[in-house]
Amino acid sequence: MFQTFLIKYGEIFLKGKNRYVFEDALVDQVRNAVLKVEGEFKVHKYLSRIYVEAVGEFDYDELVSALKKVFGITAICPVLVLDDEGFDKLKEEIVEYIDRTYPDKNMTFKVQSKRARKNYPVESMQMNALIGEALLDAYPGMKVDVHNPDIFVYVEVRERIYVYSIVIPGPGGMPVGTAGKGMLLLSGGLDSPVAGYMISKRGVRLEAVYFHAPPYTSERAKQKVVDLATIVAEYSGPIRLHVVNFTEIQMAIYEKCPEDELTIIMRRYMMRIAEHIANETGCIGLITGESIGQVASQTMQSLACTNEVCELPVYRPLIAFDKQDIVTIAEKINTYETSILPYEDCCTTFVAEHPVTKPTVKVIARHEERLADCIDEMFKTAVEGREIIEIK
Ligand code: ATP
Ligand code: MG
Repeated sequence: MFQTFLIKYGEIFLKGKNRYVFEDALVDQVRNAVLKVEGEFKVHKYLSRIYVEAVGEFDYDELVSALKKVFGITAICPVLVLDDEGFDKLKEEIVEYIDRTYPDKNMTFKVQSKRARKNYPVESMQMNALIGEALLDAYPGMKVDVHNPDIFVYVEVRERIYVYSIVIPGPGGMPVGTAGKGMLLLSGGLDSPVAGYMISKRGVRLEAVYFHAPPYTSERAKQKVVDLATIVAEYSGPIRLHVVNFTEIQMAIYEKCPEDELTIIMRRYMMRIAEHIANETGCIGLITGESIGQVASQTMQSLACTNEVCELPVYRPLIAFDKQDIVTIAEKINTYETSILPYEDCCTTFVAEHPVTKPTVKVIARHEERLADCIDEMFKTAVEGREIIEIK
């Protein structure tokens, strides 16, 4: 029944030149999103509005769910687009529209008209009153509530006339492409996919790096990370995933460094390698799923130690989140079921029974010196030997 969708976005922050950058990026992202939906769609910007127009047959639910993944969209409104055939005809059309859209008419409403084309013969206030009256006459169950109505009936008079009342919330955020690119440290756990989603929601493009340790971690564990990246990419757009073989470095740490510092030293090498690849690929920040106090390697002292090895800013969007808050987002974005699959992680294979919780940079750095004779070569091998997987 609807062929056209009005795309709403937060306009409050958009002034001057930024507005075009934002809108153009949003149009691009909407175009990418509808490419994945069966059918033909035209996406265009018209007088600071973005419209998606279906040319022929399409699946409404499929289109809406694709648009619900486009950051920057605050609402998706299926609209009825009418030619101007006089105000009486418009009233009739709206009465019919309400009938088609709401089988149960026991509801309150408010008409919100906007006369963007000033030569239209009826003023906005008058339109509100007259259309309201027509609806009250047609449907005894409907009542006006100007403060807190169940539905708003929006009527916008432009070259053509747009009528809508269904407002489907979008994800909000900023369109991907309006910020820089970040390097996500993506493990197979719950947290890092959520962290990637959240940073991407601010308009940041993602690359990702995964450290695996075959044969201690399996092909299935790697596939799980690919699957998670694929889910995140539904929101963030394509992700280039760098799969780094970490076994050699991990074994060296295991053999030469104090057992209780294994995780922290390992995490420092992950950060170093991630930063190296970030610099090579034009990423201007690192992203992790860390949260204060969640595990020994995420106390403030431990975070200070892992943070110390890189110069790029490290974005930790989950830093103050409880696990349950993270789970809630993971469920919402559909990474949860994949994240909880039980495949081993390289961190769990080499974990100490009593890891340090209050490491100091000085002590950790001193113990890392035990790797001095081999680490540069291993680092180079790990970086150069990485596998690159393009996630669409
Ligand atoms: P997650 O649920 O994201 O795995 P976690 O609670 O298991 O996190 P850690 O294992 O301490 O926490 O890892 C902290 C962060 O370090 C992760 O959120 C992720 O960003 C990064 N990380 C950990 N292991 C890996 C890995 N094998 N490959 C890439 N990044 C990793
Ligand atoms: Mg983990």
